[in-house]
Amino acid sequence: MKPSAFRRIRATGRCRRLWLAAALSALGASVLCLSAETCTAQDTREIYQVSSREAMAAGRFDGGPTIATLKKHGDFGLGTFDGFDGELILVDGKVYQAKVDAPPTIAGDSVHTPFALVTFFKPSQTMGVHDKTDLAGLEQLILAAMPSKKIYSAVRLTGKFTSIKARSVPAQSRPYPTLVRALEQEHVFTLRETEATMVGFWSPPAMAEMSGGGLHLHFISADGKHGGHVLSCEFTQLKVEIEPIRHIEIVLVDH
Ligand SMILES: [Zn+2]
Repeated sequence: MKPSAFRRIRATGRCRRLWLAAALSALGASVLCLSAETCTAQDTREIYQVSSREAMAAGRFDGGPTIATLKKHGDFGLGTFDGFDGELILVDGKVYQAKVDAPPTIAGDSVHTPFALVTFFKPSQTMGVHDKTDLAGLEQLILAAMPSKKIYSAVRLTGKFTSIKARSVPAQSRPYPTLVRALEQEHVFTLRETEATMVGFWSPPAMAEMSGGGLHLHFISADGKHGGHVLSCEFTQLKVEIEPIRHIEIVLVDH
């Protein structure tokens, strides 16, 4: 896909919550500032998102910028690859591709991504978890630490997990199925007592159609042998880092 096939439109102006509805209805403006009360010019933390959850739901599984471009916008994040060919895990500037039934590999810079959220991760809060916790408990911890439930938060978990249930999906081909149909082929696996890093985002309900809403995490095991989209997990002792983010730039992909 040629670069002209996706649009990058940077909206400028005062931070106003009104942007959200206007931008979504017009499918045009792509830099949004959430939570007008606390948005300041000094707050430069930003998520760079490729396409939308709704486009993925409709089976728009290719196009978008290359991995090389993605890395210019972040060293941390998640997503997928052309053809929904595995889960994308961006950790410390390295893009891993976790395909079905194979250890993750480093993705080539020329590969395209049809969906991703990335940022330059600079955690503002670090928490230690010392009790048995699952994803629901983790979400409560994150929400309690965030200044508002109306903004995003980048989330990184590091440590030993009691269990991780995750998935990857086999590559799809045109004509693409819907996301629901593609997920009927998902490969689900469970790891126990595993050192791993999870990266992802909590997105506000108001952005559910764009970013999914709620907590979205991908993981890579410390030995590099496993990775995927997290369905559930449990842990008793873990480092949790979060970075509340009020700005998001969304690149819309033309298909
Ligand atoms: Zn995912």
